[in-house]
Amino acid sequence: MFSRISRDFGLARLWPWIEKTPTRRFAFAAFVAIAAVALHWLIFPFTHGRTSFIFFPPAIILVTTLAGRWPGVLVALIGVLNSALQKDTESLFVFNSAEQVAVIASALVAAMLIWVGDYYRSISRRELLDLHELHELSATLASIPRLPDQLRLIMSTFARMHGADKGLISIHDPQRDALNVAASIGFSPLALDTFRESAKSASAIARIERARVVIEDTESDPRFEELRELCRAEGVRAVHATPLMSRDGEVLGALAVHFSAPRKPSEREFRIADICARKAAVFIERARAEDRVSQRDRRFESVLSSSGVPFVVLSPVRDASGKITDFRWGFLNAAAANIMRCRPTEFLGRKVTDTLPRAWQDRGRFELYVEALEKNEVRETERQTEADGNQSWYHIVASPLDGDLAVWFADVTQRKLQERSLIEADRRKDEFLATLAHELRNPLAPIRQAASIARNDNATDAQKRWSNTVIERQVQHMSLLLDDLLDVSRITHGTLQLRRQQTDLQSIIGAAVETARPLIDERHHHLVLEVPDRLQMNCDPLRLAQVLSNLLANAAKYTNPHGKIRVVAQQVDGELAIAVEDSGIGIASEDLPKVFGMFAQVRSAQDHAAGGLGIGLALAKGIVELHGGHIEAQSAGIGQGSRFTVRLPNTATSALSPKVAGAARNGSDAPNKRILLADDNRDAAESLAIILRLEGHDVELAHDGNSALRSFAARRPDVALLDIGMPMSNGYEVARKIRAAPEGAGVLLIAITGWAQDTDKAESRAAGFDHHLTKPIEPEILIDLLDHT
Ligand code: ADP
Repeated sequence: MFSRISRDFGLARLWPWIEKTPTRRFAFAAFVAIAAVALHWLIFPFTHGRTSFIFFPPAIILVTTLAGRWPGVLVALIGVLNSALQKDTESLFVFNSAEQVAVIASALVAAMLIWVGDYYRSISRRELLDLHELHELSATLASIPRLPDQLRLIMSTFARMHGADKGLISIHDPQRDALNVAASIGFSPLALDTFRESAKSASAIARIERARVVIEDTESDPRFEELRELCRAEGVRAVHATPLMSRDGEVLGALAVHFSAPRKPSEREFRIADICARKAAVFIERARAEDRVSQRDRRFESVLSSSGVPFVVLSPVRDASGKITDFRWGFLNAAAANIMRCRPTEFLGRKVTDTLPRAWQDRGRFELYVEALEKNEVRETERQTEADGNQSWYHIVASPLDGDLAVWFADVTQRKLQERSLIEADRRKDEFLATLAHELRNPLAPIRQAASIARNDNATDAQKRWSNTVIERQVQHMSLLLDDLLDVSRITHGTLQLRRQQTDLQSIIGAAVETARPLIDERHHHLVLEVPDRLQMNCDPLRLAQVLSNLLANAAKYTNPHGKIRVVAQQVDGELAIAVEDSGIGIASEDLPKVFGMFAQVRSAQDHAAGGLGIGLALAKGIVELHGGHIEAQSAGIGQGSRFTVRLPNTATSALSPKVAGAARNGSDAPNKRILLADDNRDAAESLAIILRLEGHDVELAHDGNSALRSFAARRPDVALLDIGMPMSNGYEVARKIRAAPEGAGVLLIAITGWAQDTDKAESRAAGFDHHLTKPIEPEILIDLLDHT
C-alpha cells in the first residue's frame, strides 16, 4: 500500500534519502512538525483553537511510516505541546479536567497513529527491501555470463530473502529422468548426493507434481519419511520447493529453501519463490538455447571445415551510398583455403581484392554475388579456372546468409572432362559409322557388276572367271572388315582367346605379307624383309599375322606410291622386336599417342584416299598386349615416314625343336576324314563340300536336322559340321542328340552359324559343340581345324 502512495506522491525517492541516517529521520520529523504547527497558527484566527490537533494526525502517520517510530513520537509531542500553547492561561500546564481529557485524547490518538504508521512502515520497508533485493539480483544476473554462477546467485538471494541458510536449485536431467543439483548452499556433499538420487525430496516431488511443495515440518510430514534421518543430520525441519517451468510448460527443475525450524511460508515468501523460480527458468532456458545454437554452430562449422567441398562466407563491403564495392572473407573451410593456397585464418576479415587481386577479373562473378545478396536469392554458375597449367571447373553456388553470402565451389573437373570425352567419343563414333557405311558399301558395286557379268549368257569363260575372282576378293575384303570389328569387340570385352603354338616367325610374316601384298603391289611399294631364319616363337600365328598385315596395310596406305616399306625382326634385350617402317606421310608428334585409340584417325591422314575404319591399330595393340607385349609408334613428323614396333616377350627359340617339327609334319599329313555337313542353304553347303572334298575329305550332305541325324546314324562320320538354323531340328538339337548317342561322344562337332555373340557360343558349347565358326567361314580356318584335330 505504502509503495503505491509513495509512488503516487513521489515519496519513493524521498524515503531512501530520509532512511539513510537517524539525523535525517529526526530532521524530517522536525520539518513536518514545524509545518503542522505553522499551518495550525495560520488558520488559528478562524478556528480559535477549536481544531487544535487537526494537522498532527497526518503528520504523525507520514513521519512514522517514512522515518520511524521515534521521529513519529517527536511529532506527536510537538503536537501535544502546540495544543497546550493555544490555551488562554499563562501556564502551559493543564489544570482543568477538560483540557486534561483533550490532551490525553490527543496523546492516545497520537499513540495509535504511531502504532499504525509503524506497522505499515515495517511492511512497506520489507516490500521495498524485497524489491530492491530483486532488482539488484536482476541487474547482477545480467552481468554474469555462466549459468552455474547465475543459479548460485539466485539461490543465495532466495535463501537470504527467506532468512534461510540452506537451499537448492536442481535441474532435470532427461537422460536419467532425475534431478541434478545445479546450485546449493549449506548442504553436505552426502546430502547433495542423496538429493541427486532421491525421488522423494521436495524438489523431486515438485517436479513430478508440477506444483509447489510445502513441508511445514519434516518430522511430521509423511512425504518426508525417507529423508527424515538426513534432515535431522543436516538440521532441516521445514522446506518448500517451487517447480521451474519453461515458457512452454516443461518442468526444467525446482528451487527449494530449507529451514531449521518448523514453519509455514508466508504469501510474501511464495511470491519471492515464484519470482526467483521464474528467473532461474529463464536463465536455464536461455543457456539451453545458447547451447543448442552453439552446438549447432559447432556442428555446422565442423561439417563445413571437414567438408571436401570448398566453402566460404563473404560479407559485403559497401561505400557511403550503400553500394557493394567488394567482399570481406568471413569464413573459409580447409578445402577453400586449399584452393586459395592460404591458411584458413589467413584471409579472415580481409577484403577479397586485398588477398586475391584478380578475383573479380573473372567476368560476371562479382555481379552474380551482388545479385544473390541484393535479391536474396540463390545464384549458381560454372566457372573454369587455370592454376599451374591445370584447368579446373567449379560449380559455384552463392546463397544469402543473414546479410552475408555463403559460397560453395564444387569441383566438377572430372565431370567436365568426362562430358568432353563423351562428346569426343560420340563424334568419333559418328565418324566411324559414316566410314563403316562407306567401307561396307564400297565392295558392293564391283560385286553387283561382277555378278551381272557372270549371269550374262554372252560373257566368255574368261570374263566369268574374272567376275568370280572379283566377287571373291570383295567378299574377302568385307569379311576381313567384319572380322576386325568382331575382334575389336572381343578384345574390349576381354573374350578374345589366343591359340598359342610354336610357330616360325618367317611363316607369320609371310602370311601377313601375303594378305597385304595386293595393296603393296597396287601402290608399287618396294618391300624389304629382314627376318632371321628359323626363329621359332610361341604365339597365336593367325593373330600375330593379323597384327603385322594391319601394320603393312597401313604402311602401304599411308605411303605415296613407289614408297619403301621395311619389316625388320630382331631380338633386342631379351625381347623380340618386329618393326614395320615406311617412307610415308608420317605422323605429327602430338598425334602419336592417339593412333592406338579406338576409331582414331589422325586428321592429317583423313584426307588420304586410303583411310580405313580407325580400328586396325586398336586391334593390333589389343592382340599384342594379349601376348604380353606392347606396340609403339614412332615418326619424325609429317612427311618423315613412320615406324611401328611390336615388342614381344622373348619366347623365341632359334632352332626347331624336334617336337614342333613332328607336330608340323603331323599337321600336313593328317588323314582324310568322314564329314557330315548339314546346312539348309544348299549353295553354301555344296560349295563348302566341294572345297572339303578338294582337300581329300569324304563329305556327306544333309539339309535339315532330321536327315542330318539319319545320315549320322548311318555313316558314323568323324566330324559333323552343323548349321544352327535348320528346319525340323535345329543344330543345337542335332548336336545334343549326337552327343547323347553312344557313338557320338568322340565325334568332332563344329557349329557353323551367323550368330557370334558370347551367349550363342555358350549355348553351342552347352549343346555339345567343340567349335563355333562364324559365317562366312574361312575355308582355310576350317581346313586347319580339321587337320589339327
Ligand atoms: P585406319 O583404318 O584409319 O588405318 P588404324 O587404326 O589402322 O585405322 O590407324 C589409325 C590412324 O593412324 C590412321 O587413320 C592413320 O591416321 C594413322 N596411321 C596408321 N599407320 C600409319 C602409317 N604407317 N603412317 C602414317 N599414319 C598412320
